[in-house]
Amino acid sequence: MAIQVTLLSHSPEPMRSLYMAYRTCYSQLTPRQIANRIEDERITDAQMKEFIEERLKTGHASPLEQVAFEFGISGVSRAFSHQFVRHRVGISFEQQSQRYVTYKDGEFPFTVPATVEKAGKTGRFQEIMEQIGAGYEELVAAGVPAEDARFLLPNATNTNFKITVNFQSLLHICDLRLCTRAQWEFRKVAALMRSEVNKVVPELGRFLQPKCGELRMGYCDESEKDWAACPIGRVRPHKDVLFRIYESYRKGELQPLRDEDWDTIEEKETAAASEPY
Ligand SMILES: Cc1cc2nc3c(=O)[nH]c(=O)nc-3n(C[C@H](O)[C@H](O)[C@H](O)COP(=O)(O)OP(=O)(O)OC[C@H]3O[C@@H](n4cnc5c(N)ncnc54)[C@H](O)[C@@H]3O)c2cc1C
Repeated sequence: MAIQVTLLSHSPEPMRSLYMAYRTCYSQLTPRQIANRIEDERITDAQMKEFIEERLKTGHASPLEQVAFEFGISGVSRAFSHQFVRHRVGISFEQQSQRYVTYKDGEFPFTVPATVEKAGKTGRFQEIMEQIGAGYEELVAAGVPAEDARFLLPNATNTNFKITVNFQSLLHICDLRLCTRAQWEFRKVAALMRSEVNKVVPELGRFLQPKCGELRMGYCDESEKDWAACPIGRVRPHKDVLFRIYESYRKGELQPLRDEDWDTIEEKETAAASEPY
């Protein structure tokens, strides 16, 4: 079953909500007066965007909780859902129940990871799922309630969610789960949520990045070993490297360009200039 992520709804006028929330903190004007200025276009969309983008560079995050997104998510595994529901703050979940839903004829939807396919084990995987399905059906037919028959079901079993998440929490989820260290399925769901937000509020969607993204922390705080192994590790700096540079700077070890550096630069320029056409 393919993963599906649908943006079902969101706060009306998210940019206006965020602007109002931030501006109220920094203005002598009342919220009503701010709203009037937006309505009569004394404050333009471009000004709101610029102001919000500046605030998003700061740690003033609570106004971001005032905008919410509702998603429908389906075709994800229980392996994913165990991880998803670990996010405790700024997100509400409703998940398909294995107590109230009884799979008919023991047929439950499941995910086959690409690595299983790559290993040429899809057939074997499906065979085991069928055996589990048959066992589940046998228990249900014997009068075992779905809530107990489900003890047989694997992590691969698919599930569905309806969630509401505020923008601050969505940023945090993307920080962690767009990181290449996160599990592939969660990365996929986070990327699909990002893509859905981008369709309706690209001004906000672009901020949904892994934590090392240029619009988030800008550096990696995973272990240096993991950073070195990351496929995008060389694009983003590691925090230890930044601290080493900072320490060198404090100790006065970061020298200004020396005469010989200038010689090198000028030699290069000279060499380039004297190259034949
Ligand atoms: C790559 C990766 C590997 C992981 N591996 C494991 C693993 O091996 N085992 C495992 O159990 N989990 C693992 N997790 C899950 C992880 O530990 C978190 O539970 C999960 O990512 C939710 O993140 P969070 O707590 O930051 O989010 P939220 O629960 O949404 O919290 C948001 C923020 O609020 C803070 N917060 C929330 N509740 C409290 C509180 N009560 N007191 C103080 N601060 C609070 C959090 O610290 C966080 O900063 C892993 C996660 C990732 C991304």
